[in-house]
Amino acid sequence: MTVRVRIAPSPTGYLHVGTARTALYNYLFARKNNGKFILRIEDTDVERSSKEMTDIIIESLKWLKLEYDEGPFFQSDYFSHYIDHIPELEKTGGIYRCFCTPEELEERKNKVIEQKKAWKYDRKCLNLSKEEIEKKLKENKPYVWRVFIPEGKTYFDDLIHGRIEKDNSEIEDFIIVRSDKTPVYNFAVVIDDYRMGITHVIRGDDHISNTFKQLHIYRLLGVQPPEFAHLPLILDEKKAKLSKRSGTVSVLAFRDMGVLPEAFVNFIALIGWSPKDNREILSIDEMIQLFSFENVAKKGGVFDYKKLEWMNSKYITNTDDEKLYELLKPFYREAGIDIEKFEKDKIFKMIFSVKEKARYLKEFPYLTEFFFKDITEYDKKGVEKYFTFDKLNHLKFLVKELEKIENFTSENVEKLYKDYVEKNGIKGADVIHPTRLALSGRTEGPSLFLMMEILGKEETVKRLTKVL
Ligand code: GLU
Repeated sequence: MTVRVRIAPSPTGYLHVGTARTALYNYLFARKNNGKFILRIEDTDVERSSKEMTDIIIESLKWLKLEYDEGPFFQSDYFSHYIDHIPELEKTGGIYRCFCTPEELEERKNKVIEQKKAWKYDRKCLNLSKEEIEKKLKENKPYVWRVFIPEGKTYFDDLIHGRIEKDNSEIEDFIIVRSDKTPVYNFAVVIDDYRMGITHVIRGDDHISNTFKQLHIYRLLGVQPPEFAHLPLILDEKKAKLSKRSGTVSVLAFRDMGVLPEAFVNFIALIGWSPKDNREILSIDEMIQLFSFENVAKKGGVFDYKKLEWMNSKYITNTDDEKLYELLKPFYREAGIDIEKFEKDKIFKMIFSVKEKARYLKEFPYLTEFFFKDITEYDKKGVEKYFTFDKLNHLKFLVKELEKIENFTSENVEKLYKDYVEKNGIKGADVIHPTRLALSGRTEGPSLFLMMEILGKEETVKRLTKVL
């Protein structure tokens, strides 16, 4: 049996973190088992679906490098296929027409609720006689198709949760085709999964109640249902379901902040799954090798933004300069800096100087911006603390010495500062902080001596002299 799995997003919104993780687990499972990973766009809700969202979903998967082997297939291309299965289902006697109007249903439902009871479709149309049905059809009365749920229990062996069971009295005779002849999600999904030969349905926990219904459609079709694996939800820091309210959840928003796709994939993989040895930094190949449902948690996992920052910064630090340079170009461009206009070697050094500080690629332009422009403002508190009479006096002397350095490298500058500090019995901080403030306008930043090397002798002396 070839493993065939799918990710089936609805294009009613962007691809969010939860769907991305579901896609990833499907992908890992497919690759591990030499199977196929399929993309199916569930756009039967025509009004809420859009081409724009479909494009965003596809772009997101591409960014994450979760390549699909088949698709994208669009449910809307197959509308008639779903309905084609109705006669076959009707023959089983397991589905029936329901002519109740929404208004009638609402009225009956309200009565039941008034009595503080739970509402479930009351099967008014189950026992319509052949003649009654014929008559209503002749009158063109709109109707939906419902599945008859017999007495008993419905259960399945989930690959993550083990056996899950529900008494059929808790399952309503649910609708599979609406009065406008469009299939509802539960119907379309079963027909698609069946026609596409899906072997494993891997999706969020929130679909468990749908699975119970879908199993009845499989039963009526007389086909073996796929295996199911329901993934625990992703929670926010308050342990509520991760949503827009919790913060950023759109995958492309993370890209635009400058999260590296490899870091993002690594991070989401570990929400609800961990390899046995609890390793944290994993390449996609390692994940494929180690992935198994046994190690997927049964309870929801928290989306920890701080951990994402930590992980992204690790990935940034480990990215080689040439690649980082390419990745950073658009971020600099957005900040109004064309790094291609500068010596590549210099840019490499700048990137290197702040590489370990940056949590997102988007932070690089800010962290290095003082290299590119004249300093016109100086940190106020820093000015009070570091631009004092005696400290500036030290700088006055140091500028003269700096001018004499022939080979203006960070090592040579550092040696000059060290010797000066030693000779005068002062603290390194007494000269380092004022120099940094004069050169960058800031009290924090990359290694000072490297900063001076990058700026070069002329610019360093110019900025110091300006302050003096
Ligand atoms: N379109 C459904 C969703 O976005 C897919 C559920 C499933 O995988 O069956 O939640």
